[in-house]
Amino acid sequence: MIIDCHGHYTTSPRQHEAWRQAQIEAHAAGKPPPPRPAMTDDEIRQTIEGGQLKAQRERGTDLTIFSPRAAGMGHHLGDAATSEGWASACNELIYRVCRLFPKNFIGVAMLPQSARVSPRNCLSEIERCVNQYGFVGINLNPDPSGGHWQDPPLGDRYWYPVYEKMVEYDIPAMIHVSASCTPTHHTTGSHYLNGDTAGFDQLMRSSVFKDFPTIRFIIPHGGGGVPYHWGRYRGLAQDAKLGVLSELMLNNVFFDTCVYHLPGQELLAKVIPVDNILFASEMIGAVRGIDPETGHHYDDTKRYVDQLPLSPAEKAKIFEGNARRVYARLSAQIEKQAAG
Ligand SMILES: [Zn+2]
Repeated sequence: MIIDCHGHYTTSPRQHEAWRQAQIEAHAAGKPPPPRPAMTDDEIRQTIEGGQLKAQRERGTDLTIFSPRAAGMGHHLGDAATSEGWASACNELIYRVCRLFPKNFIGVAMLPQSARVSPRNCLSEIERCVNQYGFVGINLNPDPSGGHWQDPPLGDRYWYPVYEKMVEYDIPAMIHVSASCTPTHHTTGSHYLNGDTAGFDQLMRSSVFKDFPTIRFIIPHGGGGVPYHWGRYRGLAQDAKLGVLSELMLNNVFFDTCVYHLPGQELLAKVIPVDNILFASEMIGAVRGIDPETGHHYDDTKRYVDQLPLSPAEKAKIFEGNARRVYARLSAQIEKQAAG
């Protein structure tokens, strides 16, 4: 089985995004949000069949670990109540996709975060998504301010209520920022890659893995700048007397393969042990074009992994085994959804 651990519902029905717009406008006007829009199963089916499902079939992948559109989370917009309403609507929609296509999609939750609001706020949504929806992980935004970095670093006890819940439920978090609120940082360019790199750096300088020895984080987009700068991080950890970087990080931190060219994948697989790499494409997502150098979509990352000089057993770990291990609830959820 080929499991893509990183996909977002970027093709959701128009009325879903329109409601978000109306919700934010109502908040700005000091009014309550309008009622949520109706969406039929057929409307949802169409957005998936012509999009993510088509790409799965064309590219030869089987299952996508699926979450709400990351740039659309918009934790810097509105307040804690708008984030709660929006997260609830987005997660419910993911649940509906998973019910309509139980063999192809398994859910991951977006959290109702807001800048400078305790992440304790997110616990009931995590409980709902795991217990009622069968979701197997969460996306954790290390910067809900959208570029101002107003919350403490991920190593701070500020985040511990979420970490305690992750350990209790045995679910991992993908560290994933949302839209950038500043033109200095393009959302899916520097803002995303900075968020990945900063998240790794923050965890490295923390005692999170001493306090939560079994907790697991996925750094998306190939780990941002981290694998390329592994030598720098080894040196920084050494100078700060934190210990040996691999021993410090690799029991708890994993990297996905959302790297959109072969040389980048080769570097990732050379620097990071295969046990810490999870296959992912983030389709349909940030980069939608076709690479003229290869004639294939940039985000058709399976092609790159197929070309890596690894054994079939090592590739099976990247494509399937590691995802089942890191998303500890995944195997049971696959069986449950397959049984209908
Ligand atoms: Zn993403």
